[in-house]
Amino acid sequence: MQDHEILAWLREEDGARVRELWQAADAVRAEVVGPQVHLRGLIEISNYCCRECAYCGLRAPARDVARYRMTADEILAAARQAVSFGYGTVVMQAGEDYGITREALAGTIRRIKAETPLAVTLSMGERPEEDLAAWREAGADRYLLRFETSDAELYRRIHPTPPGRAHRDRIAVLPVLRKLGYEVGSGVMIGTPGQTVASLARDIALFRALDLDMIGEGPFIAHPDTPLGGGAPRTAPEGEQVPDSARMTCSVLALTRLVCPEANIPSTTALATVDPIAGHEQGLRCGANVVMPNLTPGRYRALYSIYPDKEGIHDDPQVFHERLLARLHALGREPGAGPGNRIRRTAAG
Ligand code: SAH
Repeated sequence: MQDHEILAWLREEDGARVRELWQAADAVRAEVVGPQVHLRGLIEISNYCCRECAYCGLRAPARDVARYRMTADEILAAARQAVSFGYGTVVMQAGEDYGITREALAGTIRRIKAETPLAVTLSMGERPEEDLAAWREAGADRYLLRFETSDAELYRRIHPTPPGRAHRDRIAVLPVLRKLGYEVGSGVMIGTPGQTVASLARDIALFRALDLDMIGEGPFIAHPDTPLGGGAPRTAPEGEQVPDSARMTCSVLALTRLVCPEANIPSTTALATVDPIAGHEQGLRCGANVVMPNLTPGRYRALYSIYPDKEGIHDDPQVFHERLLARLHALGREPGAGPGNRIRRTAAG
């Protein structure tokens, strides 16, 4: 698909044509990655953060957030729960929290790798290369770092560089992760105030150029206690602002599947939040092949408030799991077995 075609699809308003796009992506998903939906248990291990991202409810200046940091034993208990549900991967996610030291997290990773068969994915923000290397050495398999937007001006506005740190955008960190031997994940929010349709088309083309293994995309959800949350956020010109809708999210998932057929693409919690009834299913029918059930202990879950009314904050993991299996079955899909690494088709295949 050419870049101008990506842009044309993002601008498409005819509902029947949009559904054709979704179906085309679903067909490519079925052919290339099959019916398996890989389940990744999400453990939100800390909500401390030193950054001031304009979109995120966990930003350092958010004084009303009660902060928590899980112990290694709590993380191991959640990982064992992932094993009991048959999940192949745990994802440890946190704010950019230097209270989680390089050595402490390396120790936790080593324990998970020694005591369970799980693949380990990290989503810990922009940590120094020494930390990323130590965690890889300890056994971590994958790293998620969304670049959020390829529009450099918008990125600087929503994702300020801390004083004293050299500006480096997240796109520049991805090759470092690759060099260290991680499977590399990135992605963007959809409908961030100021995000233009043309820049979103460039984001999708960039996924292909970066040959990403995992691509996470969800709608922007305004958090009232953030600069982008209330009042009149700066939006792009009329007709250019990307809508933060489930429909636009599904089209972006579909285009992502078409340009990156082999990638692991989650149907995200943010999509399920804006469409609680059909969100997860709808994403899975538009190209997605991954779901990330939340295994964060109930007493911490509501505190990981990157955006408000996050889907599933009161769900019991067992109940969510059973419901998810039923939903997959109804869609003619099945839970994936094993770690669910990114597949690579041979040149002939
Ligand atoms: N500290 C880690 C993990 C952040 S949470 C990091 O920065 O990488 C993971 C993702 O949630 C972010 O990359 C962002 O794309 C998304 N997110 C954050 N705030 C959001 C909001 N208000 N609406 C929708 N998605 C949001």
